[in-house]
Amino acid sequence: AKTRGKNTHELFQQHMTDEASRRMLLENDLRAALDEHQFFLVYQPQIDIEQGHIIGMEALIRWRHPERGVVSPMAFIPVLEATGMIKDVGEWVLHDACQAIHAWQELGIWRDGMKVGINVSASQFLDASLTHSVRQAMESTGVDGQVLDFEITESMLIESVDDTIKRMHALRELGITFSIDDFGTGYSSLTYLKQLPVDVIKIDQSFIHDIIADSSDAAIVEAIIAMANHLSLGTIAEGVESTEQLAFLQQAGCQRYQGYLYARPLSREDMTDLMQSTATL
Ligand code: C2E
Ligand code: CA
Ligand code: CA
Ligand code: CA
Repeated sequence: AKTRGKNTHELFQQHMTDEASRRMLLENDLRAALDEHQFFLVYQPQIDIEQGHIIGMEALIRWRHPERGVVSPMAFIPVLEATGMIKDVGEWVLHDACQAIHAWQELGIWRDGMKVGINVSASQFLDASLTHSVRQAMESTGVDGQVLDFEITESMLIESVDDTIKRMHALRELGITFSIDDFGTGYSSLTYLKQLPVDVIKIDQSFIHDIIADSSDAAIVEAIIAMANHLSLGTIAEGVESTEQLAFLQQAGCQRYQGYLYARPLSREDMTDLMQSTATL
């Protein structure tokens, strides 16, 4: 029994060590990533369903790891959040996106009313320095807050609704608008929706995925769009991959969409080319 106990203990420790060391390696690598310019942003166009043209885009972070190649944000955003590094990386995201927008404005391909959606984590959003960071990004790049839309999730509201609303009002004064990301996947959506100064609902891609085959998903999406329209909120469907899905969304009255059907997230250069070619149409 003694031997078995020892083995179990060793196994357990071994497991812990593997987990912990993997996490620590990731953490160390992430600390170097910002200094060594390994992060970059890609941009996924958002399309007006009626007009068919680009009305904005979502900025999505990528990490070019020296050995592992391009790493998905799903693998490292949680680590950045847990370690507090999300604050610095979030600042970098804001600054880099504003810089890109400024460059597009200089090229004359940025149309009035366009916006870049920025994903903001809960810890980043509730940090007291956020408004200051946003102002700094705007000032150093020379862009206006009106070009930014912050994507927040319902999960952030669980911690502190009042603080979140206060923060939103402060940022709205800079011209920033708000979208609720992954709408429908959190809970208490409807209670908060009434109180929150939001502009747009992003319908989660999990509902869009089976919209053609699954009649409950179809009904949920129709209901979300109808509700948003009644509340004068904008709607974006995420993860649109087929023309059938797009046709469904159009007849349901959805305003905008993003997804592989139109374009995957693009490098800054490819986004520039796309904007250039669509601007002259
Ligand atoms: P999200 O905000 O829900 O972003 C949408 C995800 O769907 C993106 O994954 C995008 O590449 C993917 N996507 C877009 N169109 C389609 C489609 O047609 N089909 C499918 N299957 N997927 C599609 P990505 O880029 O891997 O980002 C994953 C998540 O990481 C994001 O989910 C967001 O929560 C987080 N994230 C990304 N960038 C940032 C950032 O700068 N800051 C923070 N805090 N989080 C970020
Ligand atoms: Ca998002
Ligand atoms: Ca989303
Ligand atoms: Ca998501």
